Amino acid sequence: MKSLYLLNKDLRLKENRVIEVLKKSKSCAFVYWLKKDFKEMGEARLSFLIESLLELEMQLNEVGHKLYFINSLEELDLKLFDQIYFSKVYNSKEQKEFETLKEKTCQSDTECFEVENSTLYALSELPFSLEMLPKGFTSFRKKIEKKQTQLNKCTIGKSLTFDSFKPIDLEHKTVSVLNERLERLTKNDMFTGGEKSSLEHLKNYFWNQDRARTYKETRNGMIDFFDSTKFSPWMALGSLSPITVMNELLEYEEQVEKNESTYWIYFELMWREYFKLYSLKFGDKIFNLNGLGYKVFYIDDVDKDGAYFNQWARGETKEPFVNANMIELHQTGWMSNRGRQNVASYLAKHMFLDWRLGAKHFEKYLIDFDVESNWGNWNYNAGVGSDPRDRIFNIKKQADMYDPDHEYQSAWLIK
Ligand SMILES: Cc1cc2nc3c(=O)[nH]c(=O)nc-3n(C[C@H](O)[C@H](O)[C@H](O)COP(=O)(O)OP(=O)(O)OC[C@H]3O[C@@H](n4cnc5c(N)ncnc54)[C@H](O)[C@@H]3O)c2cc1C
Repeated sequence: MKSLYLLNKDLRLKENRVIEVLKKSKSCAFVYWLKKDFKEMGEARLSFLIESLLELEMQLNEVGHKLYFINSLEELDLKLFDQIYFSKVYNSKEQKEFETLKEKTCQSDTECFEVENSTLYALSELPFSLEMLPKGFTSFRKKIEKKQTQLNKCTIGKSLTFDSFKPIDLEHKTVSVLNERLERLTKNDMFTGGEKSSLEHLKNYFWNQDRARTYKETRNGMIDFFDSTKFSPWMALGSLSPITVMNELLEYEEQVEKNESTYWIYFELMWREYFKLYSLKFGDKIFNLNGLGYKVFYIDDVDKDGAYFNQWARGETKEPFVNANMIELHQTGWMSNRGRQNVASYLAKHMFLDWRLGAKHFEKYLIDFDVESNWGNWNYNAGVGSDPRDRIFNIKKQADMYDPDHEYQSAWLIK
């Protein structure tokens, strides 16, 4: 069997279920699909992506393979392959892109396989069907937790070994040509893309820094890098599997300490899991102004020329706390969860602007941009998701609580 592995948000070799099934192939080509949004990404996000690709290429080179890239599916010559594999996508936007591939393969003799590869739990392991996904996060989590012991046993497995099958040579460019582009970009020094860096960071967080034991108390911090885990950029590109994170967490609990903080890391991973399923279930709705449609989102009609939105985007609003966060985002590609909630609430509930503009802005800049987590959280903060409560953040109160000495704001605002 000649196989093609079309990579997307799964830039890793460890705990990669596509590679596990690929082992049955005689030969294989690895191709990354560089999509249109590549041209629109902020520098930090783009450099992180390129670093991740270059590192994966290096790892593949070590086992005799190459990592090619294409800009469009039209470039693929399907006749060369018996089978095409890709990791399952959970949102309708990317699903539509992959539909084109499925349609193309239908017209040829090539078979197409979608592999669940980016969640902790496979759909078949959940204690409910997708149609019966609990409406709110809390009931979702409780149902999962009830079954957690069994689920852990069947999903949290050993890491995979990379079996060598023969490479298939293609005429496409290899990702090494992106090196030139990388050199011209300003990167975020705190995050280096790629699986190796992700695993180093994982070990560092749990074992050297020993920060899991106090996660619950520090997770809302906005200054210290290790206040929260910072796993999200690597998980967004799939350089780090949530299963690998969970394995490390379980190991830490066994060897060092199991407490409320270690549970809370799992709790937060459940949010990620929830938004994957939420996006899969609700499809296009998550991108609609009124989200799931339980409420009508109110827009103030004053921003005809986009001037108010630009104030928000550039960090030039009346709220220094919002501004500091937006400036951090522009300069680094990062914003804390506390910051994200505040700036989202400010745009949607104080400025009454179309929250989707904010979600798209995040899409461009966030180093950890992930369709499901981003749009799911924006739904939630704009009050158009599955949560019946309409939350409005009091920005001044939040700033007083989470940045009482203005240390964070002073770090980002022009003096
Ligand atoms: C408006 C808005 C947009 C967001 N956009 C994204 C996005 O594009 N990509 C993204 O990964 N996260 C997004 N989040 C969720 C959250 O802010 C980040 O996951 C978190 O800040 C990442 O930092 P961390 O890895 O240190 O998280 P930690 O606090 O250490 O949490 C551990 C892990 O749990 C998961 N997690 C934590 N909180 C959430 C959450 N609210 N939703 C989903 N998963 C969560 C992440 O995978 C994270 O790495 C968004 C939140 C908001 C409010």
